[in-house]
Amino acid sequence: MRDRIIVSLIRPTGKNKLMRERDQNMDRILESSKGMYKENAGNWNPQKGCKNGCMYCVGSFQRYYRRFWRSYWKPGKTGKGCEMCRDFRPHAHPEELARRSFPDTPQDKFIFVVAGGDIAFAKKAYLDKVAQVMSGFPKINFLVQTKCPRMLFSKACSFSQNVAIDITLETNRDEDYDKISSAELPSKRFQAFLEFRHPRKFVTKEPILKFDKDVIVSWMRRLAPSRIYVGYESKGLAKKFGFPEPALNETTDLTKTLGDECFTVYRKLMRKAWWETP
Ligand code: SF4
Ligand SMILES: [Zn+2]
Repeated sequence: MRDRIIVSLIRPTGKNKLMRERDQNMDRILESSKGMYKENAGNWNPQKGCKNGCMYCVGSFQRYYRRFWRSYWKPGKTGKGCEMCRDFRPHAHPEELARRSFPDTPQDKFIFVVAGGDIAFAKKAYLDKVAQVMSGFPKINFLVQTKCPRMLFSKACSFSQNVAIDITLETNRDEDYDKISSAELPSKRFQAFLEFRHPRKFVTKEPILKFDKDVIVSWMRRLAPSRIYVGYESKGLAKKFGFPEPALNETTDLTKTLGDECFTVYRKLMRKAWWETP
């Protein structure tokens, strides 16, 4: 999950060339991260931060975040640009609950909620308030994405129908997953999502990792998500970290099968696995 709303918080000062260059660099980094979903009409971050420590997030987004945030962060500062944002620790930004409007979300567009973290770390009482704000905008589509559905659903928060709940499910394989992330294991995520009753469910398989096609297809049949995103790691870290990526033909075969089964599949970055190229 990514945060681009802070692009608007980092304004060029115009005071000197160095600061302008820093601002431009920050904008470029965050612009490059906003493409996680092209259906994203805007981010809303009433909560930020995450403790899952996914290798591909810590090694790219969080690293840049810390490096550049240091230029703007001041000890004791709260609100936007706060210390906890810098450290990516889960925390609330309640000033965002006062939001009076959101960009329109026509067709398949949505507002990405907590793009800069995992919403599952929010406290129950606060989560209820976030859900209440979303229910107050019934014509706006929201996307709530998590890698910890069991933790999220244990808070028994009621989400309105304009909210799509999305779990990241890079693979079905639990073995060695803890080397990649400390989030809930894939099989636990699947089970938690299966037990959760909600009319709008999405699944995101990005960055896709080696999988067992029969298991994935069977899980999708049971979850019946209205949308499935599939894509490879896009920050150029796969080779560096030795991600267990599937071959491209396996992934295209999976997306074709899911499409043939009448699932709506959104193909994101499709490329050869890092180990397929010399
Ligand atoms: S769950 Fe999302 S926000 Fe948290 S570390 Fe992983 S990629 Fe980053
Ligand atoms: Zn903060």
